[in-house]
Amino acid sequence: MNVLIAEDDAPSRKMLQSLLVKWGYTVTALRDGDEAWSILSQPDHPDLVILDWIMPGIEGPEIVKRLRIKENSRPHYIIIMTSASSENAAAYALDAGADDFICKPFNVNELRARIAVGCRVTSLHQALADKLHKLEAATETITRLASTDELTELHNRRSFNDFFALALSAARRHNHPLSLISIDIDNFKAVNDTFGHSVGDQLLKEFASLMLKMARAEDFAVRWGGDEFMILLPQTTGEAAYTLAERIRAAFEQNASWVTPVAVTASFGVAQLREGEQGDTLISRADDALYIAKHEGRNRVITVGLGEDLCR
Ligand code: GH3
Ligand code: MG
Repeated sequence: MNVLIAEDDAPSRKMLQSLLVKWGYTVTALRDGDEAWSILSQPDHPDLVILDWIMPGIEGPEIVKRLRIKENSRPHYIIIMTSASSENAAAYALDAGADDFICKPFNVNELRARIAVGCRVTSLHQALADKLHKLEAATETITRLASTDELTELHNRRSFNDFFALALSAARRHNHPLSLISIDIDNFKAVNDTFGHSVGDQLLKEFASLMLKMARAEDFAVRWGGDEFMILLPQTTGEAAYTLAERIRAAFEQNASWVTPVAVTASFGVAQLREGEQGDTLISRADDALYIAKHEGRNRVITVGLGEDLCR
């Protein structure tokens, strides 16, 4: 463990340094508070600090106060050395934020024991910080998994619901258009049956990445389930949504042959939010349009009621 000693009295400093080196610590020994502050305020500071109460430059308690203000997850363990004659010095040092104090002239065994306590506390801090870091990383992963479709890495339906509620209220408040594209791969069962489930998976992934590539960053692409997808398009008219759906449809028809020897297609239904319309109804209308696209022979984009029902 790295220990910093700041002590202006040369004989005391040398004695402290040689004792600590003998006990196995790596020691940086300094003679004034300014030097100590410049090292201790760095991110890679020594963990354990022994500060003299009074020394040239910034004095011990002032260093402690400053360190406690800027400290993060790697706190310093600070022992202040006070003179036995100075009244209330120990209380003042602890109030300033020191972890411990030792009176000069010090008892060597007591010093060794107090430093050992500092090492234990520092190790506990480190172990706690490591656990916290792992916990934060795990929470981040869980949050991401809870809102992401595992296969395609698109948003899942749960995160769609949250985003949809916000998008609906923003569209209503600002009177902006909002459109939805409902999508289903054509004859996907046959793809699985003919080429196997893993080729089917690959096709779903390819379709997802195509959608992401062609949609804008502010659009919300979601795997609805199985071979069904949705794209929610804020500030987008039904006509613009239709254009995007048509571009994705045409590109997929070309691309799909990369994973399957024959072209695979998809059908699309487009709807734009109407004045006063509920979210569920918008989804139903996009699904109805998709149903018509399937019914009319697949591999096409159908949009319902554009013109008479625009909410601009
Ligand atoms: P249609 O043109 O009418 O949509 O016909 P279809 O064969 O695509 O019918 P449907 O959309 O109902 O079929 C969806 C199929 O998708 C059924 C299911 O076996 C398959 N499927 C669902 N999830 C997955 C998956 O994660 N991977 C693969 N490979 N297949 C899946
Ligand atoms: Mg299908």
